[in-house]
Amino acid sequence: MLAEKEDTRFAKSIMVTGVAQGIGFDDVYISPDLAICQECRKELSDPADRRYKFPFINCTNCGPRFSIIERTPYDRKNTTMDFFTMCPKCQGEYEEPLSRRFHAQPNACPDCGPTLVCLDVEMRPYSEDYAALLERGLIGAVKSIGGFHLVCDAKNGDAVNKLRRRKKRETKPFAVMARDIETVKRYCRVSQAEEELLNSDQAPIVILQQVKETELPYFLNPGLNSLGVMLPYTPLHHLLFGSRLEILVMTSGNRSDESIACDNAEALARLRGIADFFLLHDRRILNLCDDSITRVARNRMQIIRRSRGYVPLPIKVQSTPYPVLALGGDLKNTFCLLKGDNAYLSQHIGDLSNKICFNEFAKAIVNYQQYFQANPVVAAHDLHPDYITTRFAQGLGIEMIGIQHHEAHLASCLAENNYGGDVLGLVCDGSGYGQDGAIWGFEFFAGKNGFFKRVAHLEYVHCLASDGMALRPDRMALLYLLQQGEFKDEKRLARYLKLPEGEGALYKRLLASNQNCILTSSCGRLFDAAAAILGICTLNSYEGEAAMRLEALCRERTEDYYPFSIAASDSMKIISVREMWPLVMKDLEKKRDKGYIAAKFHRTVEKMIIETFKVLRQATGISTAALSGGSMQNAFLLSGLLNSLEKEGFIVLIHRQVPPNDGGISLGQAVMAGRL
Ligand code: ZN
Ligand code: ZN
Ligand code: FE
Repeated sequence: MLAEKEDTRFAKSIMVTGVAQGIGFDDVYISPDLAICQECRKELSDPADRRYKFPFINCTNCGPRFSIIERTPYDRKNTTMDFFTMCPKCQGEYEEPLSRRFHAQPNACPDCGPTLVCLDVEMRPYSEDYAALLERGLIGAVKSIGGFHLVCDAKNGDAVNKLRRRKKRETKPFAVMARDIETVKRYCRVSQAEEELLNSDQAPIVILQQVKETELPYFLNPGLNSLGVMLPYTPLHHLLFGSRLEILVMTSGNRSDESIACDNAEALARLRGIADFFLLHDRRILNLCDDSITRVARNRMQIIRRSRGYVPLPIKVQSTPYPVLALGGDLKNTFCLLKGDNAYLSQHIGDLSNKICFNEFAKAIVNYQQYFQANPVVAAHDLHPDYITTRFAQGLGIEMIGIQHHEAHLASCLAENNYGGDVLGLVCDGSGYGQDGAIWGFEFFAGKNGFFKRVAHLEYVHCLASDGMALRPDRMALLYLLQQGEFKDEKRLARYLKLPEGEGALYKRLLASNQNCILTSSCGRLFDAAAAILGICTLNSYEGEAAMRLEALCRERTEDYYPFSIAASDSMKIISVREMWPLVMKDLEKKRDKGYIAAKFHRTVEKMIIETFKVLRQATGISTAALSGGSMQNAFLLSGLLNSLEKEGFIVLIHRQVPPNDGGISLGQAVMAGRL
């Protein structure tokens, strides 16, 4: 622990080429951006200090790093702070070895540093203080460390709704920033590990359980009982709260699905019509960096979105003889540059079908190669032929290696756990291209070191090949019920699911003719179907909404579960939930509590996973189990699985430093391609 602390301090102050302890001689070290430190906070609120209320206060222990670096080595002239000339006082601190600001590259003060301006939509300066504007219920576009945030008073329901409307973000939960830890505790339950994480130098968003009786508006996180919370991590954030505000919505400054805006002109253009005022400054952001999202499972951090505060620190993996560039997936994209035993996983980039995100992706790849002096000779990509990342790989003109989506998930989990032995792996997610052309998503593998064999999966169902299935839990429920569990009356089913009656007949015809159909074993679609049958979510307005709402419904665990079967042939086990559906319907008819049914469904999924692992252990003798895929973000499912698997004597590996979702697959692709 002590060693770790030392290491961060070292990390904070300098970027070294080849001298740091524990870092090889060829390694380049670039520090992530760090939250404002205690000393700087004190100066910020001290009327006698020359940096009193200066929004860009920083020192060697805190402030921007990765977001402002243009090229290596990390030196003022190679950052966007080069634009500002230090005044004699600042220069003095910079050169004084005993100063906290000795070689603090972004060092600045009100006389020589960046300037903050507050503008209205007509680009006229506001005379009113920005905190007062927020108090009045206005929406601000605020330039932070790694990009813009859209900000409003989270306790003001009208402001929150206005932001939703303007941002065209229907129900996806907003993250909030609380004034201080005491405020967080008034709205959420906070364990010691969670408190430490909130207060850490990385200052990520931490997903917390909301306290029931709070006066926060429903539309902050509709249908959920968890809330993503962070603490102020820049001096400007502290100033935003003024004297009265307690809790602010802090959401990425973008229209839905775009990447976060980074420069002033771009933000003005993109956020016009959303923001009522703009809080801008003239320190340029070179590398976009969204807020990281984390949560605590069993007292330890798990990362869900790895970005600000964590990148570009490498993940240590087994050394590879040649540099690899792994391009990740098209959604929640990150890429990974692997050089020696350092896997440089990029910041969260987002949905590459969005042009702005794609440009960011291409730019960041160039930056990483320059920063870490790596010329990849192999491009690793997903097997999906139509992925943007696959086509991008084709354009690179270097050797290409295709890696199956779920094998990449599994390899990513093993790599971050530094595990090279025999393993049984389970990967549950929304979708990934399978070698047989089906959409996989509930997959068991056995093997080691990147050589995996698919050994079990959820029984295939037909779904429609046209996209949009992931958006329609109601249609997925119809498809499941038409194919499984002996439901013959398609009109009644459609009515029950509140679909047009004709849709029942149409889908039945399509299934019979096998036209436009594709097979899937997706775990995400299974949860979608269950959520729609329970009537809690018929449309996904964001990825995973139905599953998240289903999870939020579970209040307490139950030992009850629905029947399922595992059909065992030698080469492949097929898990079927055919027998489950009629009994779910029966529970609903009996008006059983939906929270109970949701928990029973979760227990069923848990139980079928455990039983499959046991069958596989018997067949292979392997008793180490690894869990990956976006569905492992389901805390209720994950904790149930951990407890049960350990009770059954399994050693269980899960993700900690790398997201279990598609944000983590580039790491798996990289290590697999580096081994072939
Ligand atoms: Zn500081
Ligand atoms: Zn100065
Ligand atoms: Fe995936």
